[in-house]
Amino acid sequence: MTEALVALGSNLGDRRSHMEHGLARLAALPETRLSAVSTLYETAPVGGPDNQGPYLNAVARVQTGLDARALLAALHTIEAERERERVVRWAARTLDLDLLTHGDTVAEDGDLTVPHPRMHERRFVMVPVCDVAADMAHPRLQRPMSAILADLPVEPGDLTGLDSAWYTQILHPTE
Ligand code: ATP
Ligand code: CA
Ligand code: CA
Repeated sequence: MTEALVALGSNLGDRRSHMEHGLARLAALPETRLSAVSTLYETAPVGGPDNQGPYLNAVARVQTGLDARALLAALHTIEAERERERVVRWAARTLDLDLLTHGDTVAEDGDLTVPHPRMHERRFVMVPVCDVAADMAHPRLQRPMSAILADLPVEPGDLTGLDSAWYTQILHPTE
């Protein structure tokens, strides 16, 4: 089994529902179990068209028997389930699932780059990463995630913690 980090993001439609769907489907993948989930954050959009709304962002930590390529393919399948429900045309996303890290793998080719090449530059990724894996070493930079986050400049209002227990209903539906 390999420890992997997956980023979830949504800024279109019923964002919370898309995030919950993504997490539930991730937890249900073969040979895969969730070991930790970050707080759910809201983030002002960076780049892209001006008319984009704020994102929801979170990171899940999983133990998986899937290799990096198989896990990324599964993430694309889950994204596609929500993409079908897309209702608006611009570059907003119902659900974006990125493979941040897969064990110690460092890989770069046309279809798969791990660690995700921009994760270490983004507070909206590194803040939730540090909820679930602060002591984990970034496989390429060989520094703890917490040290990478500490070097990123804080922009007031860039990230708001919404709910630290947003996933409990997904993992334990009877509670
Ligand atoms: P960013 O990658 O900057 O977060 P994005 O998520 O909007 O931007 P996409 O439009 O989702 O980018 O396209 C990402 C492309 O990169 C896809 O074709 C995907 O197959 C590929 N890719 C390569 N490595 C990864 C990875 N580790 N996680 C997610 N996608 C990856
Ligand atoms: Ca992304
Ligand atoms: Ca993506």
